[in-house]
Amino acid sequence: MAFPCPVTRAGSQRQERENALMMRLPKFEYCIPKEVSEAVKMMAEAGPDSSFVAGGTDLYPNMKRRQQTPGTVISVSRLKELQECRGDGREGMVIGASVTLTDICNHPVIKRDYPVVAGAARLISTPLLRNMGTIGGNLLLDTRCNYYDQNYEWRKGVNFCMKKDGDICWVAPSSPKCWAVQSSDLAPVMVAIGARMRLASSRGERMLQATDLYNNDGIQYLTKRPDELLVDIHLPPAAGFRAVYKKLRRRGSFDFPVLGVAAALEVAEDGTVKSARLILGGVAPAPIQVREAEELLVGHQLDQEHILAAAEAAYLKARPLDNTDFLMNWRKQMARPFVIRALEEVRSQE
Ligand SMILES: Cc1cc2nc3c(=O)[nH]c(=O)nc-3n(C[C@H](O)[C@H](O)[C@H](O)COP(=O)(O)OP(=O)(O)OC[C@H]3O[C@@H](n4cnc5c(N)ncnc54)[C@H](O)[C@@H]3O)c2cc1C
Ligand code: SF4
Repeated sequence: MAFPCPVTRAGSQRQERENALMMRLPKFEYCIPKEVSEAVKMMAEAGPDSSFVAGGTDLYPNMKRRQQTPGTVISVSRLKELQECRGDGREGMVIGASVTLTDICNHPVIKRDYPVVAGAARLISTPLLRNMGTIGGNLLLDTRCNYYDQNYEWRKGVNFCMKKDGDICWVAPSSPKCWAVQSSDLAPVMVAIGARMRLASSRGERMLQATDLYNNDGIQYLTKRPDELLVDIHLPPAAGFRAVYKKLRRRGSFDFPVLGVAAALEVAEDGTVKSARLILGGVAPAPIQVREAEELLVGHQLDQEHILAAAEAAYLKARPLDNTDFLMNWRKQMARPFVIRALEEVRSQE
């Protein structure tokens, strides 16, 4: 029988404490499957203490901060199926989950037929991070909060919080729920245009509407099971709608959104709005659909009166909390001008 050596154990605990302090990655096993079937089998065998990784621009910083500490990390970088892009705006497009943000920005068909997707991708992080970061990783981004996106020692200093290792929410102490923010730029866009996601696991495959992928809870922010692999994203035909994404952030060069507005409208030849989707990002643990604004737009001309009414409805619906950059009241107020800008841009599109 083997007994753990106390000296070695104390040594490895000391080493891990030093690693956490220095923001080094914790130890983990790294697997590189070459087929989707192999990847989902590996995940089923490794169990809940494991995670997929694509570009690693979200997961690895989280691991360095000890927010996530998977014992096994399964790379999706060699899965060819996840790197494919096919179709066009006429028939709809399929984009593999591992296509990088840089490739999304530069893809001639995405730029031509889905400029809202290429445009939103271009607003994400920095050129170097976009070379590594993928569309799949972006859509599955961990939720963010000022009390959570800190190193281990900082979080320990405040006795942690409910999202990881603690039992209180520092943002809303009486709340049973975590309010960490969904900060992906592409998530509101995908919900607005009605994209669908293909998920695979050892139990089979399923398709999910983008809107059904997200859960309005900062801890359980996805309805995707941890063992499910995002294979690809299915964009609907682009002919019917005009779409725009507007992002509020501190620095124009790079920063996460503290407010994102995605609008996708079908407009008849006579200028009447046939259908509308207005989605707010960066204000809650999930992208928020402003149905009240959509109802005010449908059946009417996209004129100033209806644009202002929709902006007011979005302002009332936006309820950001004090857990990201800027004052929450100001972020709420900015919902009005950002919706106005988004809808005016939709109106100016042919
Ligand atoms: C400085 C900095 C600035 C940033 N700015 C922005 C910003 O402005 N806007 C923004 O939206 N994001 C931003 N990000 C976050 C991140 O860089 C991007 O969202 C990026 O697209 C994440 O993709 P990735 O491939 O690196 O994800 P990873 O880190 O590899 O993965 C992210 C999550 O998705 C899961 N995952 C990845 N691929 C799959 C798959 N195929 N199936 C199942 N699970 C999967 C991982 O397990 C992990 O939980 C920023 C990051 C940094 C470090
Ligand atoms: S919203 Fe509350 S529970 Fe969630 S990460 Fe922030 S402090 Fe923690």
